[in-house]
Amino acid sequence: MNKIQMTTPLVEMDGDEMTRILWKMIKEDLLFPFVDLKTEYYDLGLEKRDETDDQITIDAANAALRLGVAVKCATITPNADRVREYGLKQMWKSPNGTIRAIMDGTVFRCPIIVRGIEPNVRTWKKPITIARHAYGDVYKNSEILVPGPGKAELVFTGKDGTVIRETIHEFDGPGILQGWHNLDRSIESFARSCFEYALDAGEDLWFATKDTISKKYDARFREIFDRIFEASYKEKFQARQIRYFYTLIDDAVARVMKSEGGFIWACKNYDGDVMSDMLSSAFGSLAMMTSVLVNPEGKYEFEAAHGTVQRHYYRYLKGEETSTNSVATIFAWSGALRKRAQLDQLPDLERFANVLEKAVLGTIEDGKMTGDLALMTTLPNVEKLSSEGFILAVRKRLEEELNGI
Ligand code: NAP
Ligand code: MG
Repeated sequence: MNKIQMTTPLVEMDGDEMTRILWKMIKEDLLFPFVDLKTEYYDLGLEKRDETDDQITIDAANAALRLGVAVKCATITPNADRVREYGLKQMWKSPNGTIRAIMDGTVFRCPIIVRGIEPNVRTWKKPITIARHAYGDVYKNSEILVPGPGKAELVFTGKDGTVIRETIHEFDGPGILQGWHNLDRSIESFARSCFEYALDAGEDLWFATKDTISKKYDARFREIFDRIFEASYKEKFQARQIRYFYTLIDDAVARVMKSEGGFIWACKNYDGDVMSDMLSSAFGSLAMMTSVLVNPEGKYEFEAAHGTVQRHYYRYLKGEETSTNSVATIFAWSGALRKRAQLDQLPDLERFANVLEKAVLGTIEDGKMTGDLALMTTLPNVEKLSSEGFILAVRKRLEEELNGI
């Protein structure tokens, strides 16, 4: 069989622990035999990050901006334990944080739906994608423990000397205080990333805040979304037959629970943190969640939402059999290959990405799956496979699909 050709390389960001093991298997068993894979390789494994003083992460993010499509393996975010375990020079920052800051992107998390792994919410038939604004609000707050009676004020002192002052509260006893901020430019790029992603996915975009209560802060989010939509996306949405709509966060939550899915839900930072964990557990499993970073100019980085699955890795190192789910990592590859194919107009590569996903879902629907899914499936006669066993079962099915059986 002739291998499928690529023109532009993908930016490949390798990672750590069990997902690094899966990464290699996926490439060797599911990609190399079928695709003449072109990648620009960056090793974001912790040793290499330490060796390069984390320059490799910065280089990888810049490569993603230059080439437009990246695929990333899960990576360790160092903490004190990891500094000891790997003898690190310092506690390097989260690679995802660094990449997000350089690409200025928004993260979209989307569940992979498959027959046999049923969402806890009966009405959900299609995925619900969460877009979380990743800057400011409570995550960049300043807080005061108020010791006793006194007046709390919000004060802004402009560069030109203008002072804006607002009374927060006259305390008659001890209490607490918190200050938040956000930036127009951050909200604007969040909005653009959401509109771009919705157009790309061909799905409606929902956005919700609490602007009835927060008449300046949350209202600003709404105004910025409305302004950008009217100026740059209204016609494109009409042409694509999708809608943008704004509602209150409590109304959005109620509607989400009664919906059948198939839309993108844009959330402020805190709402996105909470709602994405609610959605991923209600859809079944963190191992079935993909994550895509989209920047306002339409540059993409695909990955799995889960981490490096450290506990399984330690078992792997001891020579024990593992049954680690590779589905979200395979979908990161298929997502990146599909996006590359669309940008470079390579229909064979696009078909391959679709068939690869079909082979993965078909394998699970046939009852062949890893341990995490075997525990929760509604399918009868399930065969629990090892990490590699599952990938090889997908390989067999992929070959059949590609040969048109
Ligand atoms: P994790 O790797 O997501 O795993 C937590 C647990 O969830 C696992 O022990 C496993 O449960 C289950 N699980 C997750 N993914 C699975 C899969 N693909 N197949 C089967 N089971 C799966 O989270 P963590 O252990 O908290 O973090 C490990 C490392 O990952 C940390 O160093 C963290 O910094 C990093 N991390 C990276 C990213 C990223 O790069 N995007 C994201 C999150 C965390 P059982 O053990 O019960 O089977
Ligand atoms: Mg969270």
